[in-house]
Amino acid sequence: PETAPETAPAPGPREQGPRPAAASRSCLITGGNRGIGLAIAGELARQGDAVAVTYRTGEPPAGFLGVRCDVTDGAQVDAAFTTVEERHGDVEVLVANAGIARDNLLAVMTDEEFVSVIDTNLIGVYRVVRRAMRGILRRRRGRIILISSSLGLLGAAGETNYAASKAGLIGFARSLVREVAARDITVNVVAPGYVLTDMTADLPDRVLATYIEQTPLGRAATPAEIATVVRFLASDEAAYLTGAVIPVDGGASMGH
Ligand code: NDP
Repeated sequence: PETAPETAPAPGPREQGPRPAAASRSCLITGGNRGIGLAIAGELARQGDAVAVTYRTGEPPAGFLGVRCDVTDGAQVDAAFTTVEERHGDVEVLVANAGIARDNLLAVMTDEEFVSVIDTNLIGVYRVVRRAMRGILRRRRGRIILISSSLGLLGAAGETNYAASKAGLIGFARSLVREVAARDITVNVVAPGYVLTDMTADLPDRVLATYIEQTPLGRAATPAEIATVVRFLASDEAAYLTGAVIPVDGGASMGH
């Protein structure tokens, strides 16, 4: 007689391709109209998720539900979520990506430069995540991914405002993990190094050369290389991953 196998068969290759419509998740990426955010939106949409992006200026990118939103304005954040909820349902995957840099040496930094960066990069994330929690707690399902920076760990001359905002996200995420983990909601931080986008396009050549020199892999990242990590954090396979700060920086911040 046939005997039952002693061990379960090895799992097959990971399922690829779009999710079935019923499993499609409502995803929102802030600052999804260009750069890293746009790459993340494309990555999530490719696997069949219902993807919405916020844009602050210009036009929304084709292929996604675009909602105009400045993350420094709580009313705009609320309105953007309401639109996404009406069209795609409660947001289940939130990627807080919108961010700015206003570099200056501290001795000559203006209040406006410091405050605007904190207001966008840290308080903006607070506004967006707090609004997302409403639906996430209701459904008891959620993936929250915050885009920080390796400079939040390493610091950089001329970026006290930026590094403070990005380091702040780590404490924010770790505290939120402790609030929501019991409901199987995960919160993770991605800390990219130097990525080729508009944000870095205007940096002086010597600054970029220094970044590259300090990066073991010896090159900058593409937005796609950040997006694939975010896609994994949002996936079912990452269910046991929370409270992590994941550097995607070619080794630049290792040891920190
Ligand atoms: P970009 O400058 O290319 O894009 C920034 C995005 O953020 C845009 O979509 C922009 O919208 C949006 N944004 C800025 N301010 C606001 C606001 N007040 N409200 C809503 N949206 C806003 O930057 P990247 O793609 O390079 O950066 C994305 C994230 O990654 C940022 O948080 C950045 O700090 C982080 N990062 C980037 C690195 C890099 O080397 N590029 C390295 C590490 C982290 P709009 O187009 O309307 O201005």
